[in-house]
Amino acid sequence: MMKVAVIGGGISGLCTSYYLVKAGVQVELYEPYKPNKENNKEVPFGASYVNAGYLTPSHIVPLSSPSLFASGLKMMFQRKSPFYIKPRLSTNLIKWGLNFAKHSNNKHVDYAIPEIAQINLYSKELFQEILSSNEIGNFQYRDRGLLMMYKTKEVGEEELEVSHRATEFGIKSEQLNHEALKKIEPHIHNSVIGAVRYYSDVSTNPIEFMSKMWAYLISHQNFNLVENKVEAIHLKKSSIDVQIECGQENSCDKVVVTTGAQANFLLKSVGDSILLEAGKGYAIQTFKSDHIRFPALLLESKVAVSPFEDRIRFSGTMELSGINHNINKLRVSAIAESAEQYYQGLSTADFRLNEARCGLRPLSPDGLPYIGASKDPRIFVNTGGAMMGWSIGPAAGKLITAVLLEQKTELSLSPFALNRF
Ligand SMILES: Cc1cc2nc3c(=O)[nH]c(=O)nc-3n(C[C@H](O)[C@H](O)[C@H](O)COP(=O)(O)OP(=O)(O)OC[C@H]3O[C@@H](n4cnc5c(N)ncnc54)[C@H](O)[C@@H]3O)c2cc1C
Repeated sequence: MMKVAVIGGGISGLCTSYYLVKAGVQVELYEPYKPNKENNKEVPFGASYVNAGYLTPSHIVPLSSPSLFASGLKMMFQRKSPFYIKPRLSTNLIKWGLNFAKHSNNKHVDYAIPEIAQINLYSKELFQEILSSNEIGNFQYRDRGLLMMYKTKEVGEEELEVSHRATEFGIKSEQLNHEALKKIEPHIHNSVIGAVRYYSDVSTNPIEFMSKMWAYLISHQNFNLVENKVEAIHLKKSSIDVQIECGQENSCDKVVVTTGAQANFLLKSVGDSILLEAGKGYAIQTFKSDHIRFPALLLESKVAVSPFEDRIRFSGTMELSGINHNINKLRVSAIAESAEQYYQGLSTADFRLNEARCGLRPLSPDGLPYIGASKDPRIFVNTGGAMMGWSIGPAAGKLITAVLLEQKTELSLSPFALNRF
């Protein structure tokens, strides 16, 4: 039986393992931070746990777009802004930044939109398939759509334009004025002038989905978890050795690197690298859960609002400050402040700011993921999901499984090739 090492247990690693296990492959998953309910071990950080849980067919515009580029430049020097780049003397950051600037044009946006829409819609179908198969059990899958709420006419018009483009892909939406919005979301602030409601988007609960996926995988005989960090990958003629922290080496036939923003640490050990930066985001929560009904994006402050069963998560910020999990209290409190700017009756005091968590979004400079083989055809990479990494988890996992097993893929993978820059 073919043995595959999947390195990294975020959504990319778990979905990759899910499809490999189903295909009858022997999977060894390496992840040092597996949550464990029995001994109350909680994952301290990680994009796949702190994200907003949206399945986002509506997010068709790539990160590298002229409007995001321009607003990013304006914001990046403000202490509390939702977008921040920490100045660093790093050749990787410089190369990444140059490529980001190069792709921030309308031609690239036109090229990327169909790719982003397709992989998101495909992934949504796969989430539905996982739900209806009942293999991992029932999980939150609320298809009430997503409200893109705005306070200024200019921002509203920009979102409306995006929504018109999205209709090309069958993504339905509707513009709501303040009064119409208040009917479905009664606590909105008087200064919110409207919203675009996308009907395509779905809200899930990441912690619930991740723990159910872990349980499913662990129940399989052809799945083995190694709760350890991988230090290096050693290529040999007829096999590959995966070296863990204690120095032990485990042999396998193929490897999938799913270590999110940290993918280069391992790729370098096999003589490869990709253009990748970490986009840190934070999440906080309030238990005033009867206050908000709909998942929403607060467009001016770039904060995502996710109602879960007993709590509401507010998440946001895109901080390019390298690989670290330091919590910037100023940015965390800016997320909480946005609550009172968009909703009545909510204030910063309603949040548990000292329990803020962060996660690193894996960002490519063109806003498209990396799904494919590395320079060595036995090493595969599935990362770069950026702001839609949760949404595309099942699709990316299924696509990389098909490539690894030399099967036909549902979507063309050339836009996601590792060597495209
Ligand atoms: C605040 C916030 C909100 C977001 N909201 C959304 C949303 O609503 N919808 C959406 O689609 N996306 C969202 N995202 C993006 C999404 O969460 C990420 O793109 C996605 O989770 C990335 O998953 P991943 O598995 O690739 O990486 P990660 O979740 O970072 O997982 C990588 C894993 O690899 C492990 N690892 C690293 N190095 C090693 C090593 N050497 N050996 C072994 N293991 C290792 C880490 O411990 C980690 O568990 C959001 C992100 C943030 C931060």
